Amino acid sequence: MIPAARPEIGIEEREAVDRVLQSGMLAQGPEVAAFESEFASLVEGRACIAMNSGTSALHLAFLAGGIGSGDEVIIPSFSFAATANAVALTGATPVFVEVEPDYFAIDPKAIEAAITTKTKAIMPVHLYGHPANLVAISAIADKHGLQIYEDAAQAHAASVDGKPVGAWGIAGSFSFYPTKNMTSGEGGLISTSSKELERQARMLRNQGMERRYENEVIGFNTRMTEIHAAIGRVQLKKLAAWTAKRQSNANFLSENLRGVVTPPTAPGSVHVYHQYTIKVIDHDRDRFAEELTKRGVGSGVYYPTPIHRLPSFNLKLDLPISERVAKEVLSIPVYPSLTQDELDRVVEVVNEVAGAGA
Ligand SMILES: *Cc1c(COP(=O)(O)O)cnc(C)c1O
Repeated sequence: MIPAARPEIGIEEREAVDRVLQSGMLAQGPEVAAFESEFASLVEGRACIAMNSGTSALHLAFLAGGIGSGDEVIIPSFSFAATANAVALTGATPVFVEVEPDYFAIDPKAIEAAITTKTKAIMPVHLYGHPANLVAISAIADKHGLQIYEDAAQAHAASVDGKPVGAWGIAGSFSFYPTKNMTSGEGGLISTSSKELERQARMLRNQGMERRYENEVIGFNTRMTEIHAAIGRVQLKKLAAWTAKRQSNANFLSENLRGVVTPPTAPGSVHVYHQYTIKVIDHDRDRFAEELTKRGVGSGVYYPTPIHRLPSFNLKLDLPISERVAKEVLSIPVYPSLTQDELDRVVEVVNEVAGAGA
Protein backbone atom coordinates (compact mmCIF):
# COMPACT_ATOMS: atom_id res chain seq x y z
CA MET A 1 0.00 0.00 0.00
CA ILE A 2 1.25 3.49 -0.89
CA PRO A 3 -0.16 5.60 1.97
CA ALA A 4 -1.77 9.03 1.48
CA ALA A 5 0.90 10.60 3.71
CA ARG A 6 4.19 9.43 5.21
CA PRO A 7 5.81 11.73 7.81
CA GLU A 8 9.60 11.47 7.82
CA ILE A 9 11.35 11.30 11.17
CA GLY A 10 15.05 10.62 10.88
CA ILE A 11 17.92 9.86 13.20
CA GLU A 12 18.72 13.58 13.56
CA GLU A 13 15.27 14.27 14.98
CA ARG A 14 15.69 11.44 17.48
CA GLU A 15 19.12 12.73 18.50
CA ALA A 16 17.72 16.25 18.94
CA VAL A 17 14.96 14.96 21.22
CA ASP A 18 17.47 12.96 23.22
CA ARG A 19 19.69 16.04 23.60
CA VAL A 20 16.74 18.00 25.03
CA LEU A 21 15.70 15.17 27.36
CA GLN A 22 19.25 14.93 28.68
CA SER A 23 19.36 18.68 29.30
CA GLY A 24 16.39 18.36 31.66
CA MET A 25 14.93 21.60 30.28
CA LEU A 26 11.62 20.69 28.69
CA ALA A 27 9.25 23.66 28.71
CA GLN A 28 9.63 26.70 26.40
CA GLY A 29 13.26 27.81 26.42
CA PRO A 30 16.30 28.23 24.16
CA GLU A 31 15.26 25.59 21.57
CA VAL A 32 11.95 27.41 21.04
CA ALA A 33 13.74 30.76 20.73
CA ALA A 34 16.19 29.27 18.20
CA PHE A 35 13.35 27.68 16.23
CA GLU A 36 11.57 31.04 16.08
CA SER A 37 14.62 32.92 14.82
CA GLU A 38 15.47 30.20 12.29
CA PHE A 39 11.91 30.03 10.96
CA ALA A 40 12.02 33.81 10.42
CA SER A 41 14.22 33.17 7.36
CA LEU A 42 11.08 31.78 5.63
CA VAL A 43 9.06 34.97 6.24
CA GLU A 44 11.45 37.80 5.37
CA GLY A 45 12.79 38.03 8.91
CA ARG A 46 9.45 38.75 10.54
CA ALA A 47 8.93 38.13 14.23
CA CYS A 48 7.90 34.50 14.88
CA ILE A 49 6.01 33.20 17.91
CA ALA A 50 5.90 29.40 18.27
CA MET A 51 2.85 27.65 19.74
CA ASN A 52 1.57 24.19 20.61
CA SER A 53 -0.52 23.95 17.43
CA GLY A 54 -1.48 25.68 14.20
CA THR A 55 -4.96 26.18 15.59
CA SER A 56 -3.55 28.06 18.60
CA ALA A 57 -1.51 30.19 16.19
CA LEU A 58 -4.61 31.10 14.15
CA HIS A 59 -6.65 31.82 17.29
CA LEU A 60 -4.03 33.84 19.18
CA ALA A 61 -3.08 35.85 16.09
CA PHE A 62 -6.66 37.13 15.96
CA LEU A 63 -6.81 37.83 19.70
CA ALA A 64 -3.42 39.55 19.61
CA GLY A 65 -4.59 41.66 16.66
CA GLY A 66 -7.69 42.79 18.53
CA ILE A 67 -10.32 40.76 16.65
CA GLY A 68 -13.32 39.90 18.81
CA SER A 69 -17.02 40.20 19.48
CA GLY A 70 -18.90 42.35 16.97
CA ASP A 71 -16.24 41.93 14.26
CA GLU A 72 -16.63 40.03 11.00
CA VAL A 73 -13.81 38.07 9.38
CA ILE A 74 -14.17 36.91 5.78
CA ILE A 75 -12.95 33.35 5.21
CA PRO A 76 -13.37 30.63 2.58
CA SER A 77 -15.93 27.94 3.42
CA PHE A 78 -13.84 25.37 1.58
CA SER A 79 -11.08 24.81 4.15
CA PHE A 80 -10.27 22.93 7.34
CA ALA A 81 -12.63 23.65 10.25
CA ALA A 82 -9.79 25.21 12.27
CA THR A 83 -9.89 28.26 9.97
CA ALA A 84 -13.43 29.09 11.06
CA ASN A 85 -13.03 27.86 14.63
CA ALA A 86 -10.20 30.34 15.17
CA VAL A 87 -12.48 33.21 14.18
CA ALA A 88 -15.50 31.99 16.17
CA LEU A 89 -13.45 31.32 19.33
CA THR A 90 -12.56 35.03 19.51
CA GLY A 91 -16.27 35.93 19.55
CA ALA A 92 -16.07 37.37 16.03
CA THR A 93 -18.30 36.13 13.21
CA PRO A 94 -16.80 34.10 10.37
CA VAL A 95 -18.32 35.22 7.06
CA PHE A 96 -18.07 32.31 4.65
CA VAL A 97 -17.44 33.00 0.97
CA GLU A 98 -16.58 31.10 -2.21
CA VAL A 99 -13.25 29.86 -3.53
CA GLU A 100 -11.81 30.01 -7.03
CA PRO A 101 -12.55 26.55 -8.50
CA ASP A 102 -9.13 26.14 -10.17
CA TYR A 103 -6.84 27.01 -7.25
CA PHE A 104 -9.22 26.28 -4.34
CA ALA A 105 -8.37 29.55 -2.53
CA ILE A 106 -10.70 32.40 -1.50
CA ASP A 107 -12.19 34.32 -4.45
CA PRO A 108 -11.27 38.04 -4.31
CA LYS A 109 -14.58 39.00 -5.98
CA ALA A 110 -16.47 37.13 -3.26
CA ILE A 111 -14.49 39.00 -0.59
CA GLU A 112 -15.49 42.41 -2.00
CA ALA A 113 -19.14 41.37 -2.14
CA ALA A 114 -19.10 40.28 1.53
CA ILE A 115 -17.60 43.44 3.06
CA THR A 116 -19.84 45.26 5.58
CA THR A 117 -19.25 48.02 8.13
CA LYS A 118 -18.36 45.27 10.65
CA THR A 119 -15.69 43.62 8.50
CA LYS A 120 -12.29 43.82 10.20
CA ALA A 121 -10.21 41.19 8.49
CA ILE A 122 -9.79 38.65 5.70
CA MET A 123 -8.29 35.22 6.24
CA PRO A 124 -7.04 33.68 2.99
CA VAL A 125 -6.11 29.99 3.25
CA HIS A 126 -3.23 28.76 1.10
CA LEU A 127 -4.98 25.44 0.62
CA TYR A 128 -2.90 22.41 -0.41
CA GLY A 129 0.21 24.64 -0.51
CA HIS A 130 -1.02 26.87 -3.34
CA PRO A 131 -0.99 30.53 -2.27
CA ALA A 132 -4.24 32.49 -2.38
CA ASN A 133 -4.41 35.46 -4.77
CA LEU A 134 -2.50 37.70 -2.36
CA VAL A 135 -1.99 40.54 -4.86
CA ALA A 136 -5.73 41.02 -5.36
CA ILE A 137 -6.54 40.39 -1.69
CA SER A 138 -3.94 42.95 -0.56
CA ALA A 139 -5.44 45.55 -2.91
CA ILE A 140 -8.92 44.92 -1.45
CA ALA A 141 -7.59 45.07 2.11
CA ASP A 142 -5.84 48.39 1.40
CA LYS A 143 -8.89 49.87 -0.27
CA HIS A 144 -11.22 48.99 2.63
CA GLY A 145 -8.79 49.30 5.55
CA LEU A 146 -8.92 45.61 6.47
CA GLN A 147 -6.29 43.37 8.06
CA ILE A 148 -5.09 40.15 6.44
CA TYR A 149 -4.43 37.07 8.59
CA GLU A 150 -3.01 34.27 6.46
CA ASP A 151 -3.80 30.63 7.19
CA ALA A 152 -0.47 29.28 5.95
CA ALA A 153 -0.84 25.95 7.81
CA GLN A 154 -0.30 24.01 4.56
CA ALA A 155 2.07 26.34 2.75
CA HIS A 156 5.54 26.65 4.34
CA ALA A 157 7.77 28.43 1.78
CA ALA A 158 5.07 29.01 -0.84
CA SER A 159 5.21 32.48 -2.41
CA VAL A 160 3.63 34.98 -4.77
CA ASP A 161 5.81 37.22 -6.93
CA GLY A 162 8.81 36.20 -4.85
CA LYS A 163 7.22 37.22 -1.53
CA PRO A 164 6.63 34.30 0.83
CA VAL A 165 3.29 33.47 2.42
CA GLY A 166 3.22 34.56 6.03
CA ALA A 167 4.90 37.83 5.00
CA TRP A 168 1.88 39.43 3.29
CA GLY A 169 -0.67 39.97 6.05
CA ILE A 170 -0.31 41.53 9.50
CA ALA A 171 0.01 37.91 10.63
CA GLY A 172 0.47 34.45 9.16
CA SER A 173 -0.09 31.15 10.95
CA PHE A 174 1.75 27.92 10.23
CA SER A 175 1.15 24.35 11.45
CA PHE A 176 3.68 21.63 12.24
CA TYR A 177 1.21 18.77 12.48
CA PRO A 178 2.84 15.46 11.41
CA THR A 179 1.44 15.39 7.86
CA LYS A 180 2.30 19.04 7.04
CA ASN A 181 5.33 19.87 4.87
CA MET A 182 7.45 19.90 8.03
CA THR A 183 6.55 18.78 11.55
CA SER A 184 7.48 19.32 15.19
CA GLY A 185 5.16 16.51 16.35
CA GLU A 186 2.40 18.99 17.03
CA GLY A 187 3.06 22.70 16.79
CA GLY A 188 2.32 26.02 15.18
CA LEU A 189 3.78 29.49 14.73
CA ILE A 190 2.63 33.05 14.12
CA SER A 191 4.69 35.34 11.88
CA THR A 192 3.93 39.04 12.18
CA SER A 193 5.01 42.45 10.96
CA SER A 194 3.52 44.16 14.02
CA LYS A 195 5.51 44.75 17.21
CA GLU A 196 2.31 45.09 19.24
CA LEU A 197 0.73 41.93 17.79
CA GLU A 198 3.98 40.11 18.59
CA ARG A 199 3.98 41.38 22.18
CA GLN A 200 0.33 40.43 22.70
CA ALA A 201 0.80 36.98 21.14
CA ARG A 202 3.82 36.26 23.36
CA MET A 203 1.78 37.26 26.42
CA LEU A 204 -1.35 35.34 25.41
CA ARG A 205 0.77 32.23 24.84
CA ASN A 206 2.09 32.42 28.41
CA GLN A 207 -0.76 33.23 30.83
CA GLY A 208 -0.94 36.86 29.72
CA MET A 209 2.41 37.91 31.16
CA GLU A 210 5.52 39.48 29.72
CA ARG A 211 7.23 39.75 33.10
CA ARG A 212 6.86 36.86 35.51
CA TYR A 213 3.74 37.02 37.69
CA GLU A 214 2.84 40.48 36.44
CA ASN A 215 0.00 39.18 34.25
CA GLU A 216 -1.26 42.03 32.07
CA VAL A 217 -4.03 40.25 30.17
CA ILE A 218 -6.04 37.03 30.53
CA GLY A 219 -3.97 34.46 28.69
CA PHE A 220 -3.54 30.82 27.77
CA ASN A 221 -0.85 28.21 28.01
CA THR A 222 -0.20 27.48 24.32
CA ARG A 223 3.58 27.26 24.66
CA MET A 224 5.68 24.97 22.48
CA THR A 225 7.92 22.53 24.36
CA GLU A 226 11.70 22.30 23.88
CA ILE A 227 11.20 18.74 22.61
CA HIS A 228 8.89 19.86 19.81
CA ALA A 229 11.07 22.85 18.92
CA ALA A 230 14.12 20.60 18.65
CA ILE A 231 12.29 18.37 16.15
CA GLY A 232 11.07 21.42 14.25
CA ARG A 233 14.60 22.85 13.96
CA VAL A 234 15.88 19.65 12.34
CA GLN A 235 12.92 19.47 9.98
CA LEU A 236 13.30 23.13 8.99
CA LYS A 237 16.79 22.34 7.67
CA LYS A 238 15.29 19.64 5.43
CA LEU A 239 12.34 21.67 4.20
CA ALA A 240 13.92 23.16 1.04
CA ALA A 241 14.99 19.76 -0.32
CA TRP A 242 11.64 18.21 0.58
CA THR A 243 9.76 21.05 -1.13
CA ALA A 244 11.81 20.59 -4.29
CA LYS A 245 11.00 16.88 -4.25
CA ARG A 246 7.28 17.56 -3.73
CA GLN A 247 7.41 19.90 -6.73
CA SER A 248 9.22 17.42 -8.97
CA ASN A 249 6.82 14.66 -7.92
CA ALA A 250 3.90 16.95 -8.76
CA ASN A 251 5.38 17.77 -12.17
CA PHE A 252 5.76 14.09 -12.92
CA LEU A 253 2.15 13.40 -11.93
CA SER A 254 0.82 16.33 -13.99
CA GLU A 255 2.75 15.21 -17.07
CA ASN A 256 1.52 11.64 -16.88
CA LEU A 257 -1.99 11.59 -15.44
CA ARG A 258 -4.91 11.25 -17.87
CA GLY A 259 -8.66 11.51 -17.41
CA VAL A 260 -8.58 13.68 -14.27
CA VAL A 261 -8.09 17.44 -13.75
CA THR A 262 -4.55 18.07 -12.47
CA PRO A 263 -3.84 21.11 -10.22
CA PRO A 264 -2.68 24.26 -12.05
CA THR A 265 -0.39 26.91 -10.54
CA ALA A 266 -1.36 30.58 -10.85
CA PRO A 267 1.11 32.89 -12.67
CA GLY A 268 3.73 34.23 -10.24
CA SER A 269 2.87 31.64 -7.57
CA VAL A 270 5.11 28.96 -6.11
CA HIS A 271 3.06 25.91 -5.10
CA VAL A 272 4.61 23.73 -2.37
CA TYR A 273 2.19 20.79 -2.82
CA HIS A 274 1.24 20.02 0.75
CA GLN A 275 -1.33 18.02 -1.20
CA TYR A 276 -1.48 17.10 -4.87
CA THR A 277 -5.19 17.44 -5.44
CA ILE A 278 -6.91 16.27 -8.58
CA LYS A 279 -10.54 16.88 -9.52
CA VAL A 280 -12.56 13.80 -10.40
CA ILE A 281 -15.33 15.07 -12.61
CA ASP A 282 -16.43 12.15 -14.82
CA HIS A 283 -16.71 9.60 -11.99
CA ASP A 284 -18.17 9.42 -8.51
CA ARG A 285 -15.23 10.69 -6.44
CA ASP A 286 -15.77 8.37 -3.45
CA ARG A 287 -16.03 5.29 -5.70
CA PHE A 288 -12.89 6.47 -7.51
CA ALA A 289 -11.03 6.65 -4.17
CA GLU A 290 -12.23 3.14 -3.25
CA GLU A 291 -10.91 1.80 -6.56
CA LEU A 292 -7.52 3.41 -5.85
CA THR A 293 -7.45 1.79 -2.39
CA LYS A 294 -8.23 -1.64 -3.90
CA ARG A 295 -5.19 -1.21 -6.13
CA GLY A 296 -2.93 -0.14 -3.24
CA VAL A 297 -2.91 3.65 -3.66
CA GLY A 298 -4.00 5.73 -0.66
CA SER A 299 -5.78 9.05 -1.10
CA GLY A 300 -7.63 11.63 0.98
CA VAL A 301 -10.54 14.04 0.67
CA TYR A 302 -9.72 17.50 2.06
CA TYR A 303 -12.48 18.43 2.80
CA PRO A 304 -15.72 16.58 2.16
CA THR A 305 -18.04 19.22 3.70
CA PRO A 306 -17.77 23.02 3.34
CA ILE A 307 -17.34 24.47 6.86
CA HIS A 308 -20.58 26.46 6.88
CA ARG A 309 -22.53 23.19 6.57
CA LEU A 310 -20.73 21.30 9.36
CA PRO A 311 -22.92 20.66 12.43
CA SER A 312 -20.71 23.10 14.37
CA PHE A 313 -21.81 26.05 12.18
CA ASN A 314 -24.85 24.71 10.36
CA LEU A 315 -25.56 27.74 8.16
CA LYS A 316 -27.84 27.68 5.14
CA LEU A 317 -25.77 29.66 2.64
CA ASP A 318 -25.70 29.48 -1.13
CA LEU A 319 -22.08 28.58 -1.94
CA PRO A 320 -22.37 26.27 -4.97
CA ILE A 321 -18.67 26.31 -5.93
CA SER A 322 -17.61 25.21 -2.43
CA GLU A 323 -20.26 22.49 -2.51
CA ARG A 324 -19.11 21.30 -5.93
CA VAL A 325 -15.37 21.19 -5.32
CA ALA A 326 -15.97 19.37 -2.00
CA LYS A 327 -17.47 16.56 -4.12
CA GLU A 328 -14.70 16.57 -6.75
CA VAL A 329 -11.37 16.89 -4.93
CA LEU A 330 -9.10 13.95 -4.25
CA SER A 331 -5.55 14.21 -2.92
CA ILE A 332 -3.11 11.54 -4.02
CA PRO A 333 0.42 10.80 -2.76
CA VAL A 334 3.03 13.51 -3.53
CA TYR A 335 5.26 13.46 -0.41
CA PRO A 336 9.05 13.55 -0.76
CA SER A 337 9.80 9.94 0.22
CA LEU A 338 7.90 8.51 -2.78
CA THR A 339 10.18 6.38 -4.92
CA GLN A 340 10.08 6.43 -8.72
CA ASP A 341 8.47 2.97 -8.63
CA GLU A 342 5.76 4.31 -6.35
CA LEU A 343 5.20 7.36 -8.57
CA ASP A 344 4.90 5.10 -11.61
CA ARG A 345 2.42 2.95 -9.73
CA VAL A 346 0.31 5.99 -8.70
CA VAL A 347 0.14 7.12 -12.34
CA GLU A 348 -0.68 3.63 -13.61
CA VAL A 349 -3.45 3.11 -11.07
CA VAL A 350 -5.06 6.56 -11.39
CA ASN A 351 -5.03 6.32 -15.19
CA GLU A 352 -6.46 2.83 -15.08
CA VAL A 353 -9.29 3.87 -12.75
CA ALA A 354 -9.95 7.00 -14.81
CA GLY A 355 -10.29 4.70 -17.82
CA ALA A 356 -7.79 6.69 -19.80
CA GLY A 357 -4.56 4.72 -19.44
CA ALA A 358 -3.35 1.20 -20.09
C1 LIG B 1 -3.56 21.78 9.76
C2 LIG B 1 -4.38 22.99 9.53
C3 LIG B 1 -4.75 23.86 10.57
C4 LIG B 1 -4.54 23.54 12.02
O1 LIG B 1 -3.26 23.23 12.38
P1 LIG B 1 -3.03 22.24 13.65
O2 LIG B 1 -1.55 22.31 13.85
O3 LIG B 1 -3.51 20.88 13.26
O4 LIG B 1 -3.79 22.81 14.81
C5 LIG B 1 -5.42 25.03 10.24
N1 LIG B 1 -5.74 25.32 8.97
C6 LIG B 1 -5.43 24.51 7.95
C7 LIG B 1 -5.79 24.91 6.56
C8 LIG B 1 -4.75 23.30 8.19
O5 LIG B 1 -4.47 22.49 7.18
